[in-house]
Amino acid sequence: MKYALITGGSRGIGRAVALRLSQQGLPVIVNYVSNDAAAEETKQMVEAQGGKCELLKFDIADKQAVEAALQQWEAAHPEDFISVLVNNAGTRRDNLMIMMSDEDWHSVIDTPLNGFFYITRRLVKTMLTHREGRIINMASLSGLKGVPGQTNYSAAKAAIIGATKALAQEVAKRKITVNAVAPGFIATDMTAELDAEALSKMIPAARFGTPEEVAAVVAFLASPEASYVTGQVIQVNGGLYS
Ligand code: NAP
Repeated sequence: MKYALITGGSRGIGRAVALRLSQQGLPVIVNYVSNDAAAEETKQMVEAQGGKCELLKFDIADKQAVEAALQQWEAAHPEDFISVLVNNAGTRRDNLMIMMSDEDWHSVIDTPLNGFFYITRRLVKTMLTHREGRIINMASLSGLKGVPGQTNYSAAKAAIIGATKALAQEVAKRKITVNAVAPGFIATDMTAELDAEALSKMIPAARFGTPEEVAAVVAFLASPEASYVTGQVIQVNGGLYS
C-alpha cells in the first residue's frame, strides 16, 4: 500500500494537507514534535472522513530520531511504501539580524532545512527503487522575496527552494517529482499573533489564505495529473508577490 508522510501534520497547513491527501485515498502518516493533543485531533478528523491515519512523533531536525522513526515504520510495514512526502514542518523565531542569537539562527535553519535533508535522503531511496514518488516542500514567500526580521527563516526557505530544484533534476528520470509550495500569509498558529487586519491591506486579495487553500495545491502536486510538473515553486499568496 502507498502512504503519504506529512511532517508537521498535527496543526495548521500540515493538518489540512493530511485531510486532503486522505480524501484522495492515501493512508496518511502524520509527524509532529510535541503537541500530542493536536496530533490526536488530526487523526480523529482523518478517521471521521473514512481515512487511515498513523501518528509518528519525532523531531525532524534530529538525525537519529528521524532514522529510528522511519526504520520502525518500515519494519512494521514490510509491504508498504511512502510514495508521497510532504516536508511541511517548520518554525520561526523572528528578530532583526543585529539582535538575532545563535540559537534563533540555528534552530530556524536546522528544523526545516536539515529536517528536509534527513527525511528526504532516507525516503527518496525507496522512491527510486519503486520508480515513483512525489516530494513536496513547504517553502514561503519569505524565501523568495526576503522578509525583514526573518533573515533566518528567509535563508532556510530560500535554501529549500534551491534544494527542490536540484533534487528535481537528479530524480526526474525515475518518475519522481520534487516541487515547492510558497505560501504568503496563511491563518494558522504560526501567524496568530500578527495583525491580520493591517497586513491584509498589503495583500491584493485583502485577506490571509486558509490552510485548505495551500493543501489544494499540495494535493494537485501529489496527484498523477502533476506527473510532468517538477522543480517548480508554486506561490499561494493572494497576489502578494509574483
Ligand atoms: P504551525 O501551525 O505552527 O504548525 C507547525 C507544525 O510543525 C506543527 O505540526 C508542529 O508540531 C510541527 N513541527 C514544528 N517543529 C517540528 C519539528 N522539529 N519536528 C517535527 N514537527 C515539527 O505552522 P503552519 O503555519 O501550518 O506552517 C506549516 C509550514 O508552512 C511551515 O514550514 C511554515 O514555515 C510554512 N509557511 C507557513 C506560512 C503561514 O503563513 N502560516 C506561510 C509560509 C510558509 P507540534 O504540533 O507538535 O508543535
